[in-house]
Amino acid sequence: MTLDVTFKTVESNCSYCNEPFDAATGGIGVLRDGDVSVCIHCGGLHLFAGDRGKLRRPTQEELTELLNDPLIRTYQRIVRQLDHRSTK
Ligand SMILES: [Zn+2]
Repeated sequence: MTLDVTFKTVESNCSYCNEPFDAATGGIGVLRDGDVSVCIHCGGLHLFAGDRGKLRRPTQEELTELLNDPLIRTYQRIVRQLDHRSTK
């Protein structure tokens, strides 16, 4: 995955921290069912489900698989080190 494309999605909120969600970065700007989202505020994991960025929480089985991916764990570690004071 590349991180050079940011695009608007359906507006929603993170189901873990409730921060607004309205854009995604990565890939080629096209969302597919099952693509992974890492919340920029809390590192929570969601999966895209259909039209332009609707999110759902992964099942426990999916979450276990996602957390075994070193790249996803790296993204979560980076997010958790960010200083979010300027985004409030
Ligand atoms: Zn969050």
